[in-house]
Amino acid sequence: MRKLRRLIRQASAAPLYQRKFDVLRDDASSSLKAFVRETPTTTLEELIAEKLVTGDPYSSRWATDHAPLVVFQLEYGTETSLYVGLGPDELKGYAEALRRCWSLVGLGSGDRVGIFDYGTSPVSYLASSAFTPYLRRGAADALGCLVTCNDGEANMSQRAVEIIKYVRPRILFLRSDCLHPFALEVEKDSLSLSDYIDALVTAENEAVLSTAERVAYEKRLAVPIYRMLRVDAAMFLAVECPRCRLLHSWQDLFLVEAPAGGSEEGGKRNPAPLVITNWFAKSCPAIRYVSQVKATLEPAGCPRGPKDLRIAT
Ligand SMILES: [Zn+2]
Repeated sequence: MRKLRRLIRQASAAPLYQRKFDVLRDDASSSLKAFVRETPTTTLEELIAEKLVTGDPYSSRWATDHAPLVVFQLEYGTETSLYVGLGPDELKGYAEALRRCWSLVGLGSGDRVGIFDYGTSPVSYLASSAFTPYLRRGAADALGCLVTCNDGEANMSQRAVEIIKYVRPRILFLRSDCLHPFALEVEKDSLSLSDYIDALVTAENEAVLSTAERVAYEKRLAVPIYRMLRVDAAMFLAVECPRCRLLHSWQDLFLVEAPAGGSEEGGKRNPAPLVITNWFAKSCPAIRYVSQVKATLEPAGCPRGPKDLRIAT
């Protein structure tokens, strides 16, 4: 609860949250339940409106007197560009989330990793201290991996195939929208992908491939595909576990809610938008951000991370 009170206090320094928290009752930080009940959510539409009205690049979410160390444009197709600022806490916590994603899909010391994604994607910019100023330990640095990065443009898919042939990464991280052009290049080249890589990881902001799409591409490319979920406005990452095939994320980094919106027939819960609170983002807080990804939360208990949060999309 101390962590929660600290987060609310820190976030209150940002104009957007100051206004929201003005109406908070004193007991909002008395328990997580009370926090969820009392604290207003934040939506992408609100961030857009705030940027348009105030002209503040961070949609009035910046909560300290210091300037950010790095700033990225968020990958949303919105009418105005939105930005996120990262200070030391954000860089450290966010890179730790990526390290755990890498570790869960089996990457470790000495492995080569390929990334085919934009520079504004956390999949790229948190990978190595060589890619991002002030990032002290990217996922590759922490795990002892060697990483190759190339801009993930669909029309450069041939290069992604050549990176696989010549660099031979164990795992290639690929933007979901590049999966189709990449598969076409693999087929044009008659490349037996499994001779070169162990798996593909696909990622996109606030969306995930459906299970049916994943299965179809796994069949077509004959390698396992693990889905990664990014919610960039909340600096959130989760990745599909090779063992249980649910997305894992981490409670010490994020508070994730998926409000049960009634049950389908047979007692199955209806998926609801994931609502994310970030524990490490102190300079640019994300408090109860409502994502566009619908999912259900599953009980913890996977052998690959017994305490991990598990998300079914
Ligand atoms: Zn698992």
